[in-house]
Amino acid sequence: YRTWDVRRVKTTCPYCGVGCQMDLLIKGQQVVGVEPRHEVPNQGLLCVKGKFGYGFINHPDRLTSPLIKKNGTFEEASWEEALALIVKKVKTTKEAYGSEAFAGLSSARCTNEENYLFQKFMRAVLGTNNVDHCARLCHASTVAGLATTLGSGAMTNSIQEVLGADVIFVTGSNTTETHPVIGAFMKQAKDKGAKIIVAEPRRIELAEEADVFLQIKPGTNVALFNGMMHVIIKEGLMDQQYKDTRTENFEALEKTVASYNPRYVADICGVCPEDIEEAARLYARADKAGIFYSMGVTQHTTGTHGVMATSNLALLCGNIGKASAGVNPLRGQNNVQGACDLGALPGDLPGYQKVYHDHVIDKYEKHWGKKLPDQAGLTVTEMIKKGEEGTIKFLYVMGENPMISDPDINHVKKALETIDFIVVQDIFLTETARMADVILPAASFAEKEGTFTNTERRIQRVRKAINPIGNSKPDWVIIMDLMYKLDYPKTYNHPSEIMEEIAALTPIYGGITYERIEQEGLQWPCPTKEHLGTVYLHKDTCMRGLGLFKPADYMESAEVTDADYPYILTTGRMLYHFHTKTMTGRVEAIQAMYPHSFIQINPTTANRLGLVDGDCVQVTSRRGQVITTASITDIVEEDVCFMPFHFADGAANYLTNTAVDPIAKIPELKVSAVRLEKV
Ligand code: SF4
Repeated sequence: YRTWDVRRVKTTCPYCGVGCQMDLLIKGQQVVGVEPRHEVPNQGLLCVKGKFGYGFINHPDRLTSPLIKKNGTFEEASWEEALALIVKKVKTTKEAYGSEAFAGLSSARCTNEENYLFQKFMRAVLGTNNVDHCARLCHASTVAGLATTLGSGAMTNSIQEVLGADVIFVTGSNTTETHPVIGAFMKQAKDKGAKIIVAEPRRIELAEEADVFLQIKPGTNVALFNGMMHVIIKEGLMDQQYKDTRTENFEALEKTVASYNPRYVADICGVCPEDIEEAARLYARADKAGIFYSMGVTQHTTGTHGVMATSNLALLCGNIGKASAGVNPLRGQNNVQGACDLGALPGDLPGYQKVYHDHVIDKYEKHWGKKLPDQAGLTVTEMIKKGEEGTIKFLYVMGENPMISDPDINHVKKALETIDFIVVQDIFLTETARMADVILPAASFAEKEGTFTNTERRIQRVRKAINPIGNSKPDWVIIMDLMYKLDYPKTYNHPSEIMEEIAALTPIYGGITYERIEQEGLQWPCPTKEHLGTVYLHKDTCMRGLGLFKPADYMESAEVTDADYPYILTTGRMLYHFHTKTMTGRVEAIQAMYPHSFIQINPTTANRLGLVDGDCVQVTSRRGQVITTASITDIVEEDVCFMPFHFADGAANYLTNTAVDPIAKIPELKVSAVRLEKV
């Protein structure tokens, strides 16, 4: 393209939670390029997905018309026909089975306004709290854990503060691949003198930069953190004054970690005791030390304990309520923070206001003009289970793809086959959409107005650059139309009006307006129109008051290896693809680089099994079996193998376990026992 031919529209990247600011370059109604913005949060940086991953927008596979399944085949329909069918099914389902027969999956890829409207639709119109989204599979344990210990389940500090940290402790996050711009800032911090600690099951790229690298066994984070705290307490390295004035329940922590001496922990984690001691001293002696984690900590049956352990360590060393420190969960999808904030959770109305608190229900009933359910609804994992059991009759999926993303796909498939009526609203014919009765074509991020909230709680604008493709419509318009047809009178002319309603009902978003976030966005809590937003949380006091030490003992993963399933499979993401690959899989250059699934296997293990790089390998767990390609590499240890979960061919989630954390109900996607065989 010639630069004088293109229009520029500033917007927010549709991929990961960093929320990079970018200009879409538009020629006619085509997106022809992307350029980074030199402002927060990315300061001129973009990763490969942000820079080159725009080809999906104008892709010929885009859904352009509503589709209704007739005799097993999808036929094009008008919006009138499709919505009329949904309305009819809503009414007959409600009449026959009541509101609890409905369930809805909202989406971390949709805007804040769309998530708000979706949960309002589920609650005020369908009458159920059975609404959840993919945060259940990634950071539900963060929301539960940090809300308990600190009073807020979000990243405590800001992305740019990485550059001011003395120590950066990364665990359970392959940051340079999954949040590449933050990974780049970590490397810049290292160049400026910061020390890096990495605790990961794989020798990831950032491990090469680490001053201490602990190659821990998957699922042993709680033991590692307890071991580090044992050393810190024993050697008197904790922040005594902070502990005395800003925390509570230290005695319980001290008692719990007393038995976690480095030798004992080293055996559990599979690392050297000296490295645990060194990591503990490095972290504790730093003036400003930030912990950065992601799903390696959260996706476990002990995920909430893992999150609380990060918080315990930070509180012990006075690293909460300080710039360039904190506990920093890196949120995966572009708007997973916003989807949580805006109530796409079964127990929380927008702003984490509990559905079972009378004053909250009263407020929402008054504003929405409807009687609301006051008991927490079903989580994603529970919806799938109830679907299989036959008690969920109607499932509405907005922009999610559980047929690839959820654990034990055979079980998900059975559930979707059992549910009477499924609506899927998406931009492509996903694996889940194929199982629907009605498909509604949605507009992509480039075709609508709205906001996303990034991992550092920054609410940023999404701007319309081109018209919706074909007959697709923005998700908020579709949900609003449907609500109207179901006799809910209120409509909106623009998403900014939805944001006004959000601000009126959601204290942490109270000061947000489109005018105020036009330039650089604002970070919540932003309770009033005068408030400038919050760069880091818990400054003078934690949001719950005193920081709560919440210790827990290490527990093994739900599934352990044995003679039949001798290897631990751990799963995750990679730089080039995103989640279920619906978008990056349609970007030619990216797809050409990584077209198929693979499994990383250690060379010694490969030798034992007679495998060489590129061989077909059958991977079997207690739940399923896939055939994939062997990638022989020593970044994994002998008894561990790794698969990215993006791919439909050789989908890793046929193998993963549905066992959940009892508190956050997050499944243990990070540890499954498998067998490997050469095909
Ligand atoms: Fe987009 Fe994340 Fe890459 Fe930034 S780091 S360009 S937000 S995918």
